[in-house]
Amino acid sequence: MHRALDKLAQGLPLSQAEEALLTPIYNFYQTLVAAYAGLPVYSEWAFTIPLSLPRERVIVTGRIDRWYQNNDRLIVLDWKSGAPPRQPQTHLLQMRFYAWALWQYHRGRQPIQAIEAQWVYLDHGHIERVHFEAHELEGATSDWQDLISQMDPNTHQFVPQPQTFAGVPWCQQCHFQQLCPEGKQYHGRHEESDVALQAAGPDLPRL
Ligand code: SF4
Repeated sequence: MHRALDKLAQGLPLSQAEEALLTPIYNFYQTLVAAYAGLPVYSEWAFTIPLSLPRERVIVTGRIDRWYQNNDRLIVLDWKSGAPPRQPQTHLLQMRFYAWALWQYHRGRQPIQAIEAQWVYLDHGHIERVHFEAHELEGATSDWQDLISQMDPNTHQFVPQPQTFAGVPWCQQCHFQQLCPEGKQYHGRHEESDVALQAAGPDLPRL
């Protein structure tokens, strides 16, 4: 792809294969990036949010590829390499998590009416969209609490092996590398959060 872009920049003709490679990316740019030009934009926006569970407090974390602010509406963009997964609900869950994180962040700062999440599979140019009203996101807090509570080794037999569908360990990009035995070998390979909500939970560096 870099070679094809380089040829394009030099005004050289592209092969059919190179054209086929760049066309979905160009269409994606026209549809999802250029369309929002002029709006405030946040890229690679990382967050940590404390969450209280019945037995403990945890910190959930994530990184949003890009989001735009259009007054009281937000637009999340996420790009995926590879083919759409066999379980489409996987990315739906991720988008709901991102929408919830943005809603949490804006609570007490600026009221948000709705969040639209869009994610594109770059290799295929396939775009998915989901719309969240702010009131729907209120209920997501208890969903995350229930989900994470099921991973409590004190009450459940559960050995986590966090990894992508391609088998890459999530420990590589986890914020808890310093604290977690499994993550120590990857320590230093993640970036710090842009936003760390501290009000509802403990301060991570002091853990
Ligand atoms: S470093 Fe620890 S907490 Fe982070 S993903 Fe790996 S096993 Fe989970």
